Amino acid sequence: MIYFDNAATTPMSEAALTALIEVSNKQYGNASSLYKIGRESKRIVKEAREIIANCIGAKPNEIFFTSCGTESDNWVISQAESELYERVIVSSVEHHAILKSVEKLQSKGKKVIYIPVNEECIVRKDILCETLDNDRVLVSIMFQNNETGAVQPIRELCELVHKKNPESIFHTDAVQAVGHTKIDVKDLGVDMLSASAHKFNGPKGIGFLYVREGVEIQPFICGGGQEFGLRAGTENVAAIYSMAKALEENNSSINATRDYIRVLEKKLLSKLDARGISYKVNGEGANRKAGIINISIAEADGEGLLNALDLKDICVSIGSACNSENKEPSHVLTAMGCTEDQIDSSIRISIGKYNTLKDIEALSECIVRYNDAKKIN
Ligand code: PLP
Repeated sequence: MIYFDNAATTPMSEAALTALIEVSNKQYGNASSLYKIGRESKRIVKEAREIIANCIGAKPNEIFFTSCGTESDNWVISQAESELYERVIVSSVEHHAILKSVEKLQSKGKKVIYIPVNEECIVRKDILCETLDNDRVLVSIMFQNNETGAVQPIRELCELVHKKNPESIFHTDAVQAVGHTKIDVKDLGVDMLSASAHKFNGPKGIGFLYVREGVEIQPFICGGGQEFGLRAGTENVAAIYSMAKALEENNSSINATRDYIRVLEKKLLSKLDARGISYKVNGEGANRKAGIINISIAEADGEGLLNALDLKDICVSIGSACNSENKEPSHVLTAMGCTEDQIDSSIRISIGKYNTLKDIEALSECIVRYNDAKKIN
């Protein structure tokens, strides 16, 4: 099997898997229990919190463990139920974890503003600027887009929002960025940031939310006093530790991994060029996350190509995988102004650190063969 769907999820790293198994095996104590194995679980959670905080330039008390990126995003948007925030502002290309949450708020009467993107999938800063007045607002703009890889100018956008009202909250969904791009939350200036372990070679079902010290936040899940009394539920100690180990490992080689993935990416496109495939990289020209290539191949049918590749045991996706049940055209490509043909003929190839040049050869060969067969038919 050749896996090119790393934006959907990633295989676990050896370090993450070892941590998951060892802690699950030996440290089953409840981190709230007062006896030895409980205290040891508590210590492991503390260590993991420190590792994660260190990886993103935060303080340990600013890291809150959640069950996934979706929960982190939902938690953030739920804050806007309060009268404190006049409006919620999001980009039109956010993940559904944000978009569905704001729709819910909207149905309860909250004003939601959607900021459009340009043809490169970059948020229209001029429109955000026009939208802002001195009201206190909650803004959520993703760091890197999961369908196109477009990297938003978060520091600039965040500065703009805080300039208008320092009490406004700026959240970034960094689920595609954490563990792949160097992140320093203090340098970015964000108030909140969401992350999910399975996107950076950690386990599924665990994520975190960074909340800047001083930002008041209401609980989303109520119950016991875990996570400083703000996110109840017995801690998944093994997954938390495994997530920390995955992030630590990815962070230690971020630049080398990115450069390696860029080489594979270039190789793929040059192979398609050499074989005369007519394609367009959606969002080309923008600063894009290494490894996410959303391409429309002339005369291809995205779903047909996905199935043809699947027959050869090669995994890619159309639209976003979290959304593959949904047959609606991609809201991201639509927001970028792609034509129906471009959308129908698009696939997302997402390269990860375990892919090889041989994988790229196999993928490009299959695309060429699919294309040749299409021409004959
Ligand atoms: N945000 C973005 C940008 C994503 O890509 C995803 C998953 O694809 C999510 C949020 C949801 O994360 P999770 O799968 O951990 O709920």
